[in-house]
Amino acid sequence: MKKKILVTGAAGFIGSNLANFFIKKKYEVWTIDDLSTGNLKNLNKSIIFINGDCSNKNTIKKLKNNKFQYIFHFAGQSSGEISYENPCKDFKSNVQSTIYLAEYAIKNQCKKFFYASSMSVYGDTKLGKCKESDKCNPLSFYGIGKLTSENYLMKYRKKGLNPVILRFFNVYGPNQNFSNLKQGMISIYLAQILNTKKLNVKGSLNRFRDFIYIDDAIEAIFTLCKKNTRPNPIINIGTGKKTTIKQLIKLISKIINKEIKFKIISGTIDDQFGVYANTKILQKYYNFKAKTNLKLGIKKFIDWKIIN
Ligand code: NAD
Repeated sequence: MKKKILVTGAAGFIGSNLANFFIKKKYEVWTIDDLSTGNLKNLNKSIIFINGDCSNKNTIKKLKNNKFQYIFHFAGQSSGEISYENPCKDFKSNVQSTIYLAEYAIKNQCKKFFYASSMSVYGDTKLGKCKESDKCNPLSFYGIGKLTSENYLMKYRKKGLNPVILRFFNVYGPNQNFSNLKQGMISIYLAQILNTKKLNVKGSLNRFRDFIYIDDAIEAIFTLCKKNTRPNPIINIGTGKKTTIKQLIKLISKIINKEIKFKIISGTIDDQFGVYANTKILQKYYNFKAKTNLKLGIKKFIDWKIIN
C-alpha cells in the first residue's frame, strides 16, 4: 500500500512543487487548497484534491481521519503586504488553520507535521544573519501570524505533535505566480522586466535577502523527512548567502543581456531591511547544502516562464 501524505496550499508555488515531487516518489498525495492564489494547473493529475479553506472545520472533515505519514501545512496568506489589507483574514488563514491541522495530526497519529513559517518572524536584526535561536521580533502582521503558529505548534508537542518548523527565506522558481506583484521578490521583478520592460523597486537598493531555488528547498524538506527531528525543531531554509537588491538587478540584467531601467519607489510597510540565513543546522546536523547558484536558478526560472 502507498504511504499517504497531505500537502495544504498545494496549488500554490511551494506546495505544488512538493506535491508533484512526492507523486514522483510514488506516495499517495492528498491536497487541500482554496485556490485564493494557487492554480490547479500547477498540479499533477494523480493527486487527491480537496477544494476548501483550511481554517474551516468542514474542510478538515473531508480528510476523513486518513492517517498521513507527513502533513505539510503550506496553505496560507503568503504576503506581508497583503496582511495589512485584512489582518483578521490573515490571522484566520495562517493561525486558525494551523490549530485545526495540528489537532488533526495528533488525533490521527501523523509522524511529522511540517509547517511553512518564514524568515519574517525575525524582523530586523543587527547583522541581518539570522539563526534559529535568535530572539524573534516580527515587523508585519504576516510575521506575527507565522510566529504565533510556531508557538502553537511548540505547545502542541506536549500533546504528542512532532512539528518541524521551516523558516523559509526567499524561495523562487517555477510555478511562482507572475500575476501576484505582492509576493516573491524575484518573480515580482521578473514579471515587470519581462512583461513591461520596466522595474519599480520598492525601497532601498541596499536591502538584502537570501534566495533559495525551489528544487533545493524541496530537497531540503525531503532530507528533513528522512532524519530524526532535532530537540529544537525550527530550521532555516536558505542558502546562507546574502544578495543585495542592487546585485540582484545587475545579475538579472547580465542573464537577459539587457540594461534594466528601474525606478525606486517607497518601500512596503514594515518590510525587513535585510535578512539572510545562518544555515549551520541545515548543513551540520542535516548534512544539507543548497546546490543551485543564483545565476543558474534565475536562468532556469526564466526558461520555465518562456514556455509556460
Ligand atoms: P502561494 O501563495 O503560492 O501558496 C499558498 C497556497 O495556499 C495558494 O495555493 C493558496 O490558494 C492557498 N491558500 C491560501 N490560504 C488558504 C486557506 N486558508 N486554505 C486553503 N488554501 C489556502 O505561496 P508560497 O510561496 O507557495 O508559500 C507557501 C507557504 O510558505 C506559505 O505559507 C508562505 O507564507 C510560506 N513562505 C513562503 C516563502 C516564499 O519565498 N515563497 C517564504 C516564506 C514563507
